[in-house]
Amino acid sequence: MLTQTVRFDAEHHDDIVYPSAIPFLLVHLATVGILWSGVTWTAVTMCVGLYVLRMFAITAGFHRYFSHRSYDTSRAFQFVLAFVSQMSLQKGVLWWAAKHRHHHKYSDTVEDVHSPGLHGFLFSHVGWIFATKRGVADYDMVRDLAAYPELRWLEKNKHLPGILLAVVCFLVAGWPGLFVGFFLSTAILYHGTFAINSLAHCFGRQRYLTGDDSRNNWWLALITLGEGWHNNHHYYQVSTRQGFRWYEVDVTYYLLKALSWVGIVWNLHTPPAEVLLGERRLSRRAIDKVAYRLAATFHVESLAEQAREAWSHKPHIDWSDIHLPHLPSLDELKRRASEMALRTPSLDEVAQRAREILAEAVAQRLAQVPVPA
Ligand SMILES: [Zn+2]
Ligand SMILES: [Zn+2]
Repeated sequence: MLTQTVRFDAEHHDDIVYPSAIPFLLVHLATVGILWSGVTWTAVTMCVGLYVLRMFAITAGFHRYFSHRSYDTSRAFQFVLAFVSQMSLQKGVLWWAAKHRHHHKYSDTVEDVHSPGLHGFLFSHVGWIFATKRGVADYDMVRDLAAYPELRWLEKNKHLPGILLAVVCFLVAGWPGLFVGFFLSTAILYHGTFAINSLAHCFGRQRYLTGDDSRNNWWLALITLGEGWHNNHHYYQVSTRQGFRWYEVDVTYYLLKALSWVGIVWNLHTPPAEVLLGERRLSRRAIDKVAYRLAATFHVESLAEQAREAWSHKPHIDWSDIHLPHLPSLDELKRRASEMALRTPSLDEVAQRAREILAEAVAQRLAQVPVPA
């Protein structure tokens, strides 16, 4: 039934963090060791330092470089980014980027699973990682990255960087170094990054029309070093900078900017003026997403009922006629679309598409229960 498709299309949303379940469980279990090892200041410093270092690697590496290629760097620093990102035990660089590219490509279809709106907060935060279907990545989507043998090697040895880091933590600060410096830090890092899947789709403001639940949230941006400007990111993914306004703190971008001054990275993308003003036309796919969402605010069954009554004396309804009187008018659709928030230069196309979707949905409904002859 199309109403269900509308629901799926509008609400399913997938996101940026894809760890595997076993290291995730073991890391959490291992934090119990703190009760036995105790806590030292050295270990606490390592815990905080390794959280920040690896969060930076995930956002600057896994996300903004490998998934989106939003800036350029040398082959050597590319390897460093991948290695440090993998110290977070969130699987391999090719897998992570493949899953993330898949997410941006299909976030308007049933292929995306973890949506707080549909499955509840807990599932969207951690539950989905135990769903084995989520573990499969389409490596065809990362052929550009798989061309590098050193990245393929890292992918094969996905846990090696994390294990090496754990050993170093133990050597530097003993058992507290291992349990607090490594395991506790890694567990907090999981939840910091997961928050983008769950919290960034529940709390915050939507500046741009994207057809999904992505939101801008300042406190998430602080704990994730800039990833909290999630609605900005969905609107214009190729930008290295995700905090679009001067007051939108984006630590990852500041650090990358500093690295660009010393020539370690270059060609950082920033949003053009039309993007900042929200005047960029929506892509075909984004128009579809917004239109499905808009169509879902109408009750297809009662529209079908009106159609059934209005056309009961006629043998045939031509659903290709966009002016059918019992469908909501384009003006009504535009009014509702602008209530959904945010301006877009693509409002007419959104309204037109929503009307087509509604016409199709009503036609499907009538096909199930035909107009009486
Ligand atoms: Zn997203
Ligand atoms: Zn992204």
